[in-house]
Amino acid sequence: MTSDWIESEPAPISFPSAPFYGAPSRGAPRGRRQATAPRPDFIASTARSEGSTSTLCFDVPEETVGRIIGRGGANIREIESSTGARVRIDRDRHRGYGGGGGDVRVVIHGSASEQRAAKDKVDELSGIRRSGSGEAPLEFGSSVAVAKPRFDWAALHAGSAELVARKWEGLAPIVKEFYVLHPDVAGMSSQEVEDFRKINNNISAKNLTEKMKDRPIPNPIRTFREAFESYPDIMAELEASGFEKPTPIQCQAWPVIMQGSDLVGIAQTGTGKTLAFLLPAFIHIEGQVTPRAQRDGPTVLVLSPTRELALQIESEVKKYKYKGIRCVCVYGGGNRREQINIVSRGVEIVIATPGRLNDLLMSGRLSVRSVTYLVLDEADRMLDLGFEPQIRKILMDIRDDRQTIMTSATWPPEVRRMTDMYLTDPVQVNVGSLNLAAVHTVTQLVEMIGQDEKRERIITFISEMGENDKVIVFVGRKATADDVASDLSLQGYRIECIHGDRDQMDREQALEDFRTGYVKVLIATDVASRGLDVKDITTVINYDFPRNIEEYVHRVGRTGRAGRSGTSLTLMTREDWKHAQDLIDILAEASQVVSEELVGMAERYKEAKKKWGSDGGGRGRRFGGRGGRSFGHRGGFSLASKAW
Ligand code: AMP
Repeated sequence: MTSDWIESEPAPISFPSAPFYGAPSRGAPRGRRQATAPRPDFIASTARSEGSTSTLCFDVPEETVGRIIGRGGANIREIESSTGARVRIDRDRHRGYGGGGGDVRVVIHGSASEQRAAKDKVDELSGIRRSGSGEAPLEFGSSVAVAKPRFDWAALHAGSAELVARKWEGLAPIVKEFYVLHPDVAGMSSQEVEDFRKINNNISAKNLTEKMKDRPIPNPIRTFREAFESYPDIMAELEASGFEKPTPIQCQAWPVIMQGSDLVGIAQTGTGKTLAFLLPAFIHIEGQVTPRAQRDGPTVLVLSPTRELALQIESEVKKYKYKGIRCVCVYGGGNRREQINIVSRGVEIVIATPGRLNDLLMSGRLSVRSVTYLVLDEADRMLDLGFEPQIRKILMDIRDDRQTIMTSATWPPEVRRMTDMYLTDPVQVNVGSLNLAAVHTVTQLVEMIGQDEKRERIITFISEMGENDKVIVFVGRKATADDVASDLSLQGYRIECIHGDRDQMDREQALEDFRTGYVKVLIATDVASRGLDVKDITTVINYDFPRNIEEYVHRVGRTGRAGRSGTSLTLMTREDWKHAQDLIDILAEASQVVSEELVGMAERYKEAKKKWGSDGGGRGRRFGGRGGRSFGHRGGFSLASKAW
């Protein structure tokens, strides 16, 4: 029995027609039984609907219940009439563990003062007074206040800590510190550090927890040598890669990770973030106490939201050779048997999508017990795709004292919460979030168009493409992707199409054909908007406006990569008006042309929003947040049509 258990259990509620004490639902039909035990949120809203009243629940020893109720319910009636509260004894909430002697739930409904008075009387009758001896104070008057049961929490916590300790018994301690501070880095003045960060895409770095607020943040490194001089094999790989210098995220992330800290990196795909966590991972694998051959599973786990991104990380990992380290990518849609075969031959790095990883864990094909370095890549995307429950499940099997790196393109409250839950005193490194350097290398064009003119526009665009052009066309729905793709094929164009309903093999083939240039036009849903690293895309077309402005930035960032320039063409219809202002902000920031039409659209939307507000807020919308998620599309659409 734990406090959480008490709080998360549905509490009973009194209905005016139901008896307030006794055992009304014992032996009652099922439907009725369920009606007396609704979900906690239902209780809270019921309490709210009755003005300032609320519900207080607490437990009393079963043997005192008779005294509390009194003959024929006389005591309960007296408490109710003298305090104004409603009191119910719920015998069905019996908390004994067999053999009697358990607790019974008392539910008091009323205002804070009524609850307090009634609780005092119940305590008096039961012979229990709150003595202040370790019992948590009650919060009277909150929507659902729950008294903490009399329970030895200290013993329980000690027991669970022991269980956790036993779970990881026998594992060697984790070695995390591999950073060798280069004298040139040590010698940087604080002004030099500040200037370097500023001109390198405005790097910022800070300790996220209050507890560690004074921990010094290491200076950024400026060259590969400053980071890896003591690791000649890594230096050799970097020299072979032909890269000139570290990217901004690498400059700051490498010292932080190699000094052993957890890290949250706010950076987009395309900023070199894979290498930012990968090279320290190699060193971490090699530097653990238990020899590699004796570990019973991978040392590094990279969790990725989509198969495309997982495969891309794998291809990045495979570019580097470090002391024979092997990796496998496990993802839904890939060949399960083959993945299992590779795992069982022994790998140090597993790159996985959460679903397939859970499948392998549950079937005992893979163990993550030996994982000491965990990467949660594109955390915001994982949350968007609803993977958190699966991640939570996976993390229960991974040691708490692991080193954890999390990356995210954005920093909304949900990602912050994830950071609090899964990382320990992390350093946050930010490289300029949405003000993508990529967007600055892209000419962003916007065209106002009617929905039914889009098809024609795309065909015209493609017919005018130059020999060296490579175009990705983003659409909002799988069905649109198929439609546009078949239309273009019928017109004789060689195109490929990817979306979530296509077979993994077909998707991979489509990407490969696009990458190699066998096809020059790829039609895609947002499944491909991130993680797609094809360097020579010349144009991104937003056939449908993305669901939010972050996605716009990601899509546009598919071109203008690796120092090249690119173009994006966004087709906007009147239904997209709610995105107009966000789009103007992005365009203005990147010094792009903002048309009067777009400005007009944004203004009309602002006006309409005001009008909705003065309608009495009946629509109950909030207009902030990320794109259309908190904004009911259908309602917005009809109003949009009216105002136009
Ligand atoms: P990522 O952000 O990890 O998706 O990386 C995007 C691309 O940048 C990949 O093709 C990497 O190989 C490449 N890359 C990584 N680090 C560097 C670097 N320091 N200089 C140039 N390109 C890099």
